[in-house]
Amino acid sequence: MLGGASTESWVPTSGFEWGEPANLGVTGFVVTRISSGQPVVQPPGAASWLLFPAVRTEEEWTDRKRIGDERVPALFREFADLDPADRTAIGKFAMAHGLLGIDRVAHCRLPGPAIARIGGIESTCPLTGNKSLAFQAESIEDWGEHIARVRAAVTLFELIQGKDRNGLKPLFRWSETGLSGSGIEFAWRYEPPGGVGGGWLMGESKSAADNVEEVARQWLWKEVDRRLESGVGVRLTIGRDRQPTSKIVTEGLLPSMWLQLHHAITGNKHFRQCEECRRWMEISRDEEGLTTRRRFCSDTCRVREWRRSKVSDVVKPSARPKAKRKKG
Ligand SMILES: [Zn+2]
Repeated sequence: MLGGASTESWVPTSGFEWGEPANLGVTGFVVTRISSGQPVVQPPGAASWLLFPAVRTEEEWTDRKRIGDERVPALFREFADLDPADRTAIGKFAMAHGLLGIDRVAHCRLPGPAIARIGGIESTCPLTGNKSLAFQAESIEDWGEHIARVRAAVTLFELIQGKDRNGLKPLFRWSETGLSGSGIEFAWRYEPPGGVGGGWLMGESKSAADNVEEVARQWLWKEVDRRLESGVGVRLTIGRDRQPTSKIVTEGLLPSMWLQLHHAITGNKHFRQCEECRRWMEISRDEEGLTTRRRFCSDTCRVREWRRSKVSDVVKPSARPKAKRKKG
C-alpha cells in the first residue's frame, strides 16, 4: 500500500532489456517533460543505455504482471539507494516495481537491428524525417537523474528530522549571483552514469542564512510539491458502507514514490533497514515519540538472524584455542 494512494504498473513476464542506442539503430528521441508536458526532440547521443520491455510479439505484450497496492511502503527509500551506474540493479528494480513512467519514445531506423529485439510501432523519426520503429524506453540517464533527485530530497529529509545542522550546512551556500539575486542555494551535483547531461540540482531561498534547517525545509517542500504537480489526482470511489469517498491516484512509479515521501514528511515517518535483508521499513513511534527498537522486517528475517547467531555461538569457542596456540 502506497500511503493511501492507488497506483499500478505493468511488468512483462519476459522482463526488461538494456540496449545501447547505436546497437539498436536509434536515430532520435522524443521526450515529453513531466513538468511542462512539452515534447522535446533529442539526438541519439542523449542516452547511453536504454531500458525497454523485452517484448516482440502480441502474446508477449499481453503476458504481463500487474503491480499495484502490494508495493513496498518505503520504496522511495530503496530507490534513493540505487547505484545509478548499476544496470543490473536498476533492471531488477524495474522488474519488481515497473518502469518510472518517463515518456521517452525511441525512434530506430527501419529496416534496422531494433526490429529483432522489440515490437514497436511504425512511425517517422522527427529528427531525420525517415520511417522509424518507435517504442517506449527509459534511459540510464533518466534513471540517474531521478535517483539523484530522490536521494537529494531523502538526504535533506533525514538531516532535518535528525536536526543535524552540521550535516545540512555544507549542502547550502550563500550566493550573490543566484537566479533571483542573492540568496541561499542548495547545490547537489548530479553525475550521470553515461557521462551525458548532468549538472546541479539547484534551489534558492531568501530566508535567514543562519537558519539552515528552515532553508532546507523550504527547499525540500518546494521540491516535493513540484514533483507532484502532475501524475497525481483525486478520484471519487465507493468506500465502506457504500458511501462516496475520495481516492488518491498516481500515474506511474515516480509520482508514487514522491507521494510516499510527501506522506513521510506529513507523518514524520522514520525508516530503518532490516538488519537481515537490508530492506527499508517504516518504524513506528511510541507515544513519547521514541522510535521502537524494531530490527527486522518480518518473522522470517528474525528467525534467520537468530539461527545464524546460534551457529556463530557454536563456532566461536572452538576458534579461540587455535588463536592462542598461534601466539604461544
Ligand atoms: Zn528483512
